Order: sequence, then structure tokens, then C-alpha cells
Amino acid sequence: MFRTTCLLISLLSWLPLSATSPAQSPAAQATPRRPNIVFIFCDDLTCQAISAYGESRHLLETPHIDKLAAQGARFDRCLVTNSICGPSRATILTGKYSHRNGFYNNSNCTFDNSQTTFPKLLKAAGYQTAMIGKWHLVSDPTGFDHWQILPGQGLYYNPPMIRNGEKVKLTGYTTDLIADLSIDWLKQRDRTKPFLLMSQHKAPHREWAPALRHLGWDNDRVYPEPPTLFDDFSGRSRAVADHDMGLDRTFTELDAKLRPSPNMSPEQLQQWNAWYGPRNEKFLAAGLQGRELVRWRYNRYMHDYLACVKAVDENVGRLMQTLEDEGEAENTVVVFTSDQGFFLGEHGWFDKRWIFEESLRTPMMVRWPGVVKPGSVQKEIVSLVDFAQTFLEIAGLEQPGDMQGRSLLPILQGQTPTDWRTSLYYHYYEFPAPHRVRPHMGVITDRYKLVHYYKPDIDEWELLDRQQNPEETKNYYNDPEYAQVVSELQTELQRLRQEVGDTAEAPRSAYGNQPFDGEAVKPQKKPGSEKKQTKQQ
Ligand code: CA
Repeated sequence: MFRTTCLLISLLSWLPLSATSPAQSPAAQATPRRPNIVFIFCDDLTCQAISAYGESRHLLETPHIDKLAAQGARFDRCLVTNSICGPSRATILTGKYSHRNGFYNNSNCTFDNSQTTFPKLLKAAGYQTAMIGKWHLVSDPTGFDHWQILPGQGLYYNPPMIRNGEKVKLTGYTTDLIADLSIDWLKQRDRTKPFLLMSQHKAPHREWAPALRHLGWDNDRVYPEPPTLFDDFSGRSRAVADHDMGLDRTFTELDAKLRPSPNMSPEQLQQWNAWYGPRNEKFLAAGLQGRELVRWRYNRYMHDYLACVKAVDENVGRLMQTLEDEGEAENTVVVFTSDQGFFLGEHGWFDKRWIFEESLRTPMMVRWPGVVKPGSVQKEIVSLVDFAQTFLEIAGLEQPGDMQGRSLLPILQGQTPTDWRTSLYYHYYEFPAPHRVRPHMGVITDRYKLVHYYKPDIDEWELLDRQQNPEETKNYYNDPEYAQVVSELQTELQRLRQEVGDTAEAPRSAYGNQPFDGEAVKPQKKPGSEKKQTKQQ
């Protein structure tokens, strides 16, 4: 009964003020505001690094992120549609797949910022909107009253930023600074309006550079290894074996911190060297090879990546405390998520891109007092493509008919529609650089994935069965016992391609601007597009 009443109050409070005034109901007078939305977004954060997801290696404690799950809902299968940074961001803003919003890859795409996005619609409906942190869509943000972004990938220390079109330079650790700026904006906002705050971290993106206060945070722990750290890819598609994202072959000196991250002050560099220096000397003297070298890299990678997540977690706590102090914690929907997952040594990899679970699944928590049941766990297949429509419905706005997701509001209210999706379409493009992950498309269900590696030099299929083989190291495609499953999933894949309108061949530029099929493609040029700062993906 209590929840029903709260829900009714929330629903009434979504009505535009003009619709409830002057004769407001007592309930509407008690909560006269549409809900605020705080979107805390990470880059390359994966579920294995969040203690609320109970990863078996117990890699890190994340008390502040876990608190969001305890006070709200944890989504266990929030899946991405194209597991790479820029495309995920474009999908979130537009509610559309890459082939519809035009942002296929990080190599040569520029986001067409004249498109309809949910922040634009919220702003037009009276929300005060802000975007702070990593943007990574090349063109300037649109639809925001205030924006302050990192150019390109941004830097971990003393980052240059662009504030409403003007260059500024900050001093400090970028994760802390993005939280500082978000907190400052919250304190200075127009209190007469509901707000949308997109607070978007660079962390824990490569090169996983920790805050200096976190150097040595793990006391030189030797981390449990994932069972697939030395995956030999036997029986798998050639596409999988021919990767370039391995701890054994791709890990650079910067990744390993054998040279320092860029842009530190002399004082910062001194602290950096005090911790890494002696450890690097010991490593270089040891002359490790083969598996021992991979193990050393894995442990260095875990120290650095998890330290970055630790800083995110601390800053989630600070932002939530600010919401509390501002008196907005009860009337704010807080969504915590990432642009995709990441491999933490599974299959011997770092990075993302693949349809495999660690990369495909992204963390997602939603805290919304009075609506989302505390401590609830959602198993449904949801996706970043659903976010735009969800935020629009939360704000009581119409959902444009050409958006391709579905509002999660009923699920948040604990009333999953009986016709909720049981499969999701996936399509990755960027090849060959970086990381040599061949373009692939596929269909994902609760249990299976059917994957087609279709170009440029390959035409191979894989069937994965997560129930029989959660590590996704076996290909059941040619197993006669799975013939019926393969047949059904091929039909479903074609149906989904029709449904999302991805039946035409993608333009050559969708795959990037690297030599491919023996020829290079000219990068797209659009008016007003700025030059990208870095080639790092
Ligand atoms: Ca990313």
C-alpha cells in the first residue's frame, strides 16, 4: 500500500506545473516537482570490478556503488548494442542503434549533434541540463544549459577541458575533478527547475592511471586469475584467435606503467616514481617471459584498473552526499552505469568490443526512492538503447516514434511487461585498428548467443551456450545437438535485423579509416567537426 501511494504521488508530481496549477491536489502540492535525473556514467567499467555484482575473484570493495544497488535496483543483464565508447554514447543520447545515429566507431565518426536526443527534449520541457566530464563524440554537446567536457579521450592528470566552448585547464586528478564540477553545478543550479545532470567519468579507461593517493592501495596483492587467462581459443572462430588485445601481445609500456602517464607536475611525478620506480626496476631485472610475464602484467593491470574504480566509488559517495545535503536525494532518479563492460584478464584480454559477456554486459544500478524497490535485482535483458525513452517517460514526455529502445519505467516500478524482450540484436564494426576485432553481428538471449563474423576475410559463425559454458570458450555451432537452436536463432537474428532496420550493407566508412580489404577509406568530414586529440580508443 505504501509503495502504491508513493507511486501515485510520484506520478502526480510528473505532471507539468501548468497542468496542476492553480488547483493542485494535496499530493501534488506535497511533491510539486518532476523527478531530477542524475546520470553517473563511467568509461570501460565492468561488473567484475563492482562488489555488488559478487564477482568470484573479490577484486574490489565498492561500498558507495553497492549502496546504490542496496537502495535501488541492480540490473544483471544491461547489454550494449555495439561495445565501444563513442557508439554507446551516441546510442544512449539518441535511443538508436549505430546504423541509425551514424556513429559506428571511434575512428572516423563525428556525432551529428543536430539529431534529437533526450537531453534536448528534457531541456525543451523545462529541465535544467548539464553535461560534465567525458563526452567523446567529437562534435560539441547540444541540448545542455551547461557543459564542461574533456577534449577527446581526456587526460588522467591536470586535464585541459572545454567549458561551454572555452578552453580551461584544471589541476588535479580527473575523476575527482569531474565530481567536483558536478557538485559545484548542483550547488549553483536554478532551484526552480528539475534537473538532468550527466556526470561522466573518464575512469577506468585505458591507461588506467590511479589517483596518487591510491598507489599501493592493494598492498602488492597477488590477484586470483580468471580461469581463461591462458585461453588457447581452440575450436573457436579464427576471428577470436587473431585478436590484438592480449596481455601477452598488446600491453604497452604505458599500460604497464613502465613509463609514466602524461601531464603530471614534477611533484606528482615524484610520488608516482616513488611507488612504481622500485617495482619496475625489480620487474626489469627479473627478465620474465611467457606465462610469468603475462601474470606480472595481469597483476599490474589489476592494481591500476581497480584503483581507478576505487576513485570513482569514492566520488559516487561524494556526489550522493551532495544530493542529500541539497535535499534532492528523495526526488532524484540516480542511474549509475558504463558505456560497456571490459575484460579483466578473461581470455587473456583487456579492452571490450566483443559480444562476449564481460564486454557486452555493463553495470547498471538505479536508485529512486518510493518507486524502485530497495535491493531489487533485475534479470531482464535491458540495454543502453532503452535509456533515452526511459528518461523521457520519467519526465512525463512523449517518446519519439523513431527511437529503438523501450522505456524501463515499468521494470523500475516492479511491473515487467509480459511482452518484454527475450532477445537483443548486436552489431560491432571497427576493424582492423585498434585491436583486430572483426566486425560481427549477433543475437543474444538469456542462454545463447549466435554470432556471425562476416568480413572482410572471414565468414564464420559461433554459437555460445552460457548455461553449459559460462566462460564462453566453446563453439557449439557445428554440434548436431544444437542444430535446432542454431536454426531458431538464425531466424531470430534475421527478424531482429528487420525490426531495427539493419538489413542494408553498412557503408565502408562504418568500419573505420584503416586499410581494409586492401584499400583505405577517406575519413568522413562534417562541417564544424574538431580534430580528435588522440588515436587511443
Ligand atoms: Ca568505453
